[in-house]
Amino acid sequence: MRVCVIGTGYVGLVTGACLAHIGHDVVGVDNNAAKVAQMQAGISPIVEPGLETIMTGAMQAQRLAFTTDIAAGVRHGEVIFIAVGTPALPSGESDTRAVEAVARAIGTHLDGNYKVIVNKSTVPIGSGDWVRMLVSENAAPDVDFDVVSNPEFLREGSAVFDTFNPDRIVLGGSGRRAVALMKKLYEPITQRQVAAEAALPPVPVVVTDLASAEMIKYAANAFLATKISFINEVANICDRVGADVQQVALGMGLDSRIGGKFLQAGLGWGGSCFPKDVAALVHTACDYGYEAKLLAAAVAVNRSQRYLAIEKLRQSLGILKGKTIGLLGLTFKPDTDDLRDAPALDLAAECRRLGARVKAYDPTVRPERPPAGLEAGVAVCPESLAVGCDALVLVTEWAEFRTLDYAGLARSMARALIVDGRNFLDPQILAAAGFTYVGIGKPGAK
Ligand code: NAD
Repeated sequence: MRVCVIGTGYVGLVTGACLAHIGHDVVGVDNNAAKVAQMQAGISPIVEPGLETIMTGAMQAQRLAFTTDIAAGVRHGEVIFIAVGTPALPSGESDTRAVEAVARAIGTHLDGNYKVIVNKSTVPIGSGDWVRMLVSENAAPDVDFDVVSNPEFLREGSAVFDTFNPDRIVLGGSGRRAVALMKKLYEPITQRQVAAEAALPPVPVVVTDLASAEMIKYAANAFLATKISFINEVANICDRVGADVQQVALGMGLDSRIGGKFLQAGLGWGGSCFPKDVAALVHTACDYGYEAKLLAAAVAVNRSQRYLAIEKLRQSLGILKGKTIGLLGLTFKPDTDDLRDAPALDLAAECRRLGARVKAYDPTVRPERPPAGLEAGVAVCPESLAVGCDALVLVTEWAEFRTLDYAGLARSMARALIVDGRNFLDPQILAAAGFTYVGIGKPGAK
């Protein structure tokens, strides 16, 4: 099928490349000309395992191309995905200006052929009807199209795997023809032709009305974020009563009604989705006269959790003014280069506010391109990060942090203290390397 994906970021580029990989003819459209030039040269603008390989493979097979020309993209696609960003406004409301601009442009460029316009961006409930209105307002009277909501559930860091191995595909919309086309589009995936395990049953396709599909995305993210805030609250109680949250999470998670995923206590959730999606749902609830108390509490727990490392540093170091703190990891999770709403950045800002010097190392952040606030503070390797530090804080659980030469790092530090903000390291190994180890919700591991 001929597919157009508008917005080739973490979601759009992965979706486009994966659809091209399974045989569709895909054009990716982006208004960032530099990004388009990079992709045209076969270079992925984002760090995502496996993406560049399938992207260049599909380009060589002439099933994937990139352009800034939205008119050409719209003409090309029988199915047109909207996958532009919907960041949070300061009010918590979702900023849908990019979706609006794209929907209007699609309307302008629609021809007489039937098209399915697919909302893959996470958009406030009701956006499907709104997009239909915007397209119609800008289109000729005889255009023939349907709008489908197809929310995305991929995780950065395993986005290609997740696209080929989804737990479910959600399709919201009333147009039978559109839903049938979408099912056909995803058939190689739903029939497990590209799955890691071919013996699995077909991927469930959940067909709903537009609003329910939009709500599924928000509800799923809000639930996962709340689950993390829940275990973080339990961890904070564990810290006070002498229980170990990792043992508690294991014992809880083996209950099949609970499940062990998203029960890792740490410095809280971040990234480009959970914070903005929970905020948007709280905002929508408020708009419609409901106070989302549980979600507001999940947000509040998360906000304080981000600064828990400061509390732990204070307990060990006392005054932070004049101390040097080294952050291991900056991205909001491993295997991505995404720094949007990363807890490490808030932590760095708070350390600086308290008068500490902050340095950081992250495998995807180059010293010459530091994030704001860490100018001249990004180290080239963990070894140079550690030199002279009064403490290290592990913020992102990059696999490589498990096997560092911690004894060597300890020797180069002013004080060998480590706050393991993700309970990722083995306290005994760290102690043997000479570190004072502080975990989250693990009071016995000090
Ligand atoms: P992103 O910022 O990485 O990508 C958005 C892309 O759209 C950018 O490349 C930008 O240049 C482009 N763009 C913006 N306006 C445009 C326009 N008018 N015309 C053409 N291109 C335009 O965002 P993302 O992380 O891929 O997220 C996209 C959507 O998917 C969001 O709504 C997000 O909530 C949702 N989502 C994201 C994830 C994730 O893990 N990142 C997961 C599920 C859902």
